[in-house]
Amino acid sequence: MNYPLIIAGPCSVESEEQILATARALKEIPEVKLLRGGVWKPRTRPDAFEGRGEEGLVWLAEAKRETGLPIATEVATSEHVELALKYDVDALWIGARTVVNPFSIQQLADAMEGADIPVFIKNPVSPDLNLWIGAFERFQKAGLTRLAAIHRGFSYYKESPYRNFPMWEIPIELKRILDVPVVTDISHICGCRELLQDTAQKSVDLAFDGLMVECHCCPDEALTDAHQQITPSALSTLLGSLSPRSKQVLNDDQVLSALRSEIDDIDAELLQLLARRMNVSSQIGEYKKEKGLTVVQMERWKQILSDHLETGKELGLSKELVEKVFEAIHQASIQRQASILSK
Ligand code: PEP
Ligand code: MN
Repeated sequence: MNYPLIIAGPCSVESEEQILATARALKEIPEVKLLRGGVWKPRTRPDAFEGRGEEGLVWLAEAKRETGLPIATEVATSEHVELALKYDVDALWIGARTVVNPFSIQQLADAMEGADIPVFIKNPVSPDLNLWIGAFERFQKAGLTRLAAIHRGFSYYKESPYRNFPMWEIPIELKRILDVPVVTDISHICGCRELLQDTAQKSVDLAFDGLMVECHCCPDEALTDAHQQITPSALSTLLGSLSPRSKQVLNDDQVLSALRSEIDDIDAELLQLLARRMNVSSQIGEYKKEKGLTVVQMERWKQILSDHLETGKELGLSKELVEKVFEAIHQASIQRQASILSK
């Protein structure tokens, strides 16, 4: 498939052998246009592996010399920028934890002033579109013109199958306002290998401009983000399984696609909630069996329905919808309890 930009490489540069082996394999995948590798790693806890620093840049530059792949790394301070430029890094990215801090962003923008280097700006950890836009504005004011966004998902207060909840509507809104390319970092969105394929397809369906994928020659042994990294050969399979979409139609329909995607996320949450509710019903069934109580407690059911109708009305939901949904749920719940009592 003709994907405009695939960025791939390990979460962290760990050793000369690791980055060279990974880069050599990635070089064989024609869609891969940029080799990523973190040498300064922002870690939640202080004793975790924090990257190889300048030594890692030496190895990354070696991988570039050997494979011809341009290289990219994350910078978070002006010293990082200085060193990355010294080692001829071709593109820089700003991490999600840095984008939340306007002081850091200003310092980075100042350090890059006059450097004609592409900069990828990740979304801030929190779902704050203005903070993301503000980072673009600071780099633009410093004269940087080759800017792109990386969508890596957002911290979310609810449980979700993703490491970082995608909230696709936010990068779409960024693209609408700033008209910048947006690359989807499926690895940090998913946090696991199982969800990568579907998330990559969604990025294609929503007409985004590329993918960032963490690839490691031996993912299980990775020092950072082992669960989400894949081998270059798995990346090749993933890219080969993507179904192309016509951008013409999708661009026109990007708003519709984003809304549908929001609906899909909500439906997934509804299903999780239904499963939880049925689970509680089973526990009630067990309890009623133990205490010799009847399954249907008519007064309780009437009360529930009238409370829900009242709340539904306040929320602008029709009586018909609330009745239908809760009758179906109640019925399924009764059936489940009845089958427990009859065991
Ligand atoms: C990374 O790309 O390895 C990284 C640390 O990402 P993020 O800033 O999105 O967490
Ligand atoms: Mn990572």
